[in-house]
Amino acid sequence: NRSDIHYFGAGPAPLPTTVLENAAHVLLNYKDKGLGLCEISHRSPEANEILDNTKKALITLLDIPDDYEVLFLQSGGTGGFSSTVYNLVSIWVEKKRAQIAAEVGDDDDAKVLERLRKVVDDELKLDYLVTGSWSLKASQEATRLVGAKHVNVAVDARKLNNGKFGHIPAEHEWSLTPRTSGGGPAFVYFCDNETVGGVEFPAFPHSLEGDDAPLVCADMSSNFISRKVDVRKYAVIFGGAQKNIGNTGIAIVILRKSLLPPTSKTASPDLLRALNLPVGPIVFDYATVAKNNSLYNTLPIFDVWVAGQVMEALVDKYGARRIAGQEEVSNEKARLIYEALDKYSHLYRVVPDKVVRSRMNICFRVHGGDPEKEKAFLAGAEKRGLLGLKGHRDVGGIRASNYNAVSLEGAKLLVSYLEEYAKSA
Ligand code: PMP
Repeated sequence: NRSDIHYFGAGPAPLPTTVLENAAHVLLNYKDKGLGLCEISHRSPEANEILDNTKKALITLLDIPDDYEVLFLQSGGTGGFSSTVYNLVSIWVEKKRAQIAAEVGDDDDAKVLERLRKVVDDELKLDYLVTGSWSLKASQEATRLVGAKHVNVAVDARKLNNGKFGHIPAEHEWSLTPRTSGGGPAFVYFCDNETVGGVEFPAFPHSLEGDDAPLVCADMSSNFISRKVDVRKYAVIFGGAQKNIGNTGIAIVILRKSLLPPTSKTASPDLLRALNLPVGPIVFDYATVAKNNSLYNTLPIFDVWVAGQVMEALVDKYGARRIAGQEEVSNEKARLIYEALDKYSHLYRVVPDKVVRSRMNICFRVHGGDPEKEKAFLAGAEKRGLLGLKGHRDVGGIRASNYNAVSLEGAKLLVSYLEEYAKSA
């Protein structure tokens, strides 16, 4: 029975029971129309209302300023690895083209192209902070799309850490593309919370701030709406919905409006081809998606509805405190669990460094990682209805994902089990 278990899976993750109960109803009959939500047109007034309400709830929770746009895409978190590159490289190229054209004259296409080729060759750099397997995958996708010479891995957290993820090097050790040479990187990319290794940025990096700050892109798939975010510091925030926000099927992008027309334009497909740079699929094109209010193609409105229900419930629950209310609960659950792990440190070993421990994905080993004993630990947890605790295959051990729908009560039951197991071990 659902009420007998607590699920700590890393994603897809638990959803509030009331949302699922209402979902079962709307799947059959939405607002007494006799039609279910998966059957109605994505262009119907009902669908538009759902889209608006979901957007509004996110804007309220994260206090998203007016000069930001919210987009819904269908490409999961992974789609964000590609769409950030397609869009921001294209915008960077167009900006450089316009600058060169202003210098040499718009009518001399051949000369513009020649100069632009050299600028792309010498100056196009995408900076990646690789702090875990998801930012690593994002950097690999960038390399696949634009080639290794344009990708600057400014940090590889495995270096100086025995080849393993689990810490974030101090900022003075990062080798960001200097902002002076050619205007700096096209963007800097990081993953705010690494789901597999349990590493979370404690705060926004200082070196990405300032008047001449680069465009910053962040993957928040696994810590979306779990803490306050100063949205203005980012050019692009994206994430799949299936952890804190809703079910699998949609990804959310929060985008600085100045990256859209008329302020920013993308390079023409012909120009990108001439420069050997990739032309992205139209469904990834931010300008196209934004212009069409995320309805350029058929959006899964049911998934948008689920996300809206989850977020509206948080808005209702925390009122004016918005996401700060949820942040407090998330922090408290994580604090309780880490406290128990630290209390029995002879038995439990938290995988990442203390200062970068994720509040969302709590990764630890039991008995020094003895596989049989860890199996027994997991079996004991399952007996108590504590499910989904098996660590990712790359890290092993245990991972307790502490997303928003995990209740304080669930976290406390896990803590009791940690205590009980430690005393009997
Ligand atoms: N980024 C992060 C931080 C993730 O945790 C995940 C999925 N676990 C992804 C990206 C990829 O998301 P998707 O499977 O939706 O493509």
